[in-house]
Amino acid sequence: MALKMEEIVSLCKRRGFVFQSSEIYGGFASCWDYGPLGAELKRNVKNAWWQSVVQERDDMVGLDSSILMHPKVWEASGHLATFNDPLVDCKNCKSRFRADHLKNLETCPTCGNKGTLTEPRQFNLMFKTHVGPVDSGDDSNVAYLRPETAQGIFVNFPNVQNTSRKKLPFGIAQVGKAFRNEITPGNFTFRTREFEQMEIEYFCRPEDAPRLHQEWIAARYQWYLDLGINPEKLSLRPHEKDELAHYAQSEDSTGTTDIEYQFPFMSEPSELEGIANRADYDLSQHAKFSGEKMSYFDPQNNEHITPYVIEPSAGADRATLAFLVDAYHEEEVKPGEMRTVLKFHPRLAPTKVAVLPLAKNKPPIVEIAKKLRADLAKKFVAQYDDTAGIGKLYRRQDEIGTPFCVTVDFETVEKDNAVTVRDRDTMLQERVSLDQVRGYLLEKLDL
Ligand code: ATP
Repeated sequence: MALKMEEIVSLCKRRGFVFQSSEIYGGFASCWDYGPLGAELKRNVKNAWWQSVVQERDDMVGLDSSILMHPKVWEASGHLATFNDPLVDCKNCKSRFRADHLKNLETCPTCGNKGTLTEPRQFNLMFKTHVGPVDSGDDSNVAYLRPETAQGIFVNFPNVQNTSRKKLPFGIAQVGKAFRNEITPGNFTFRTREFEQMEIEYFCRPEDAPRLHQEWIAARYQWYLDLGINPEKLSLRPHEKDELAHYAQSEDSTGTTDIEYQFPFMSEPSELEGIANRADYDLSQHAKFSGEKMSYFDPQNNEHITPYVIEPSAGADRATLAFLVDAYHEEEVKPGEMRTVLKFHPRLAPTKVAVLPLAKNKPPIVEIAKKLRADLAKKFVAQYDDTAGIGKLYRRQDEIGTPFCVTVDFETVEKDNAVTVRDRDTMLQERVSLDQVRGYLLEKLDL
């Protein structure tokens, strides 16, 4: 059963994953807010990324640079001159399209009229703002909201290299907001005007770049698989020559390969992440525009070189959406009885464990359950819920993807000082003694 877009949007709202921004005012086009479960899920996605590309690697360090930057950055990066999409308007129905998304420029896909589309116009995607209390009316105090986090990394290359004393090859990673005045946002959180990126700039010797490019493509592809993405939905797509960004068009670059996911509501696989070989484009440009040295001194060969850069650039919101729709399953548990379950990888699941008292009016049971939740919550997100019967509580936790439910019952108090642990996927139950339940869950969750 293919999930439709409206079903995903309504499911996300119902369960508190994603709400429309400014909903009480009728919403604000293509802006979304992550609710209690969505905030946990997205945080887990970003943490899993950081763990894999920074914490576990000896050749990577992190950065958190500002959103507003010197306007010259965007001149040097090429964003002011080339970060444009071709825009066409329909004079009849006022619909707006990206010209490169249309099959032909003769007929308007919305109203079907012929010859009503304007010539394509270039439209810069950067959000412009003014710094300081006065809009001077000219461009003297203009600043831009960054359209990618990458440039914050490039301009800090000398700072990070000097302070971390890393030798080539090494990389810098950063997670943060980026803003693009997209002409055609849509498909829920897939394409928005404000979004979060998870970007790496990996600096290396020019001759190592082709090999390291391939290694990063493989490593990043594996990351999605390790977090449980269905391999049949994930694919790699090397860019054609004519769609390469300006920095990847040079002879020195080995191009760009996208990691794509087949969303159920899109006709073709769509980009989750692009892994580009940017050669020495960015560091050379910033050296030129700033007059500063952006090179690296190689003590072994006693020479200054401008490193090449491999850039794995991922979207936190797109990855989160992919993990969410991929986790969605409807299953028959018994003949005629269905359940909806989100089969998140335990590391991504917003809630790891739910502690459920079998009787909410029995103080000893409630007391044990509350104490257990508080104890577990020191290690991971644990919920206490006594607002329904046990069957309903299990279903509710299945629907939000909680890997384990722990039930405290009469036997816990009267007989064995143990609890029942239920596995979300197998629905099998096991009796575990109270003093071992934390260790048991930590081992099974493998966080
Ligand atoms: P697209 O072709 O989909 O517009 P892009 O090739 O312009 O994407 P990049 O500049 O390579 O995207 O940005 C890196 C990543 O940032 C993308 O793979 C995607 O995950 C994310 N991203 C880019 N634009 C958006 C957006 N408007 N909304 C949400 N995520 C985005």
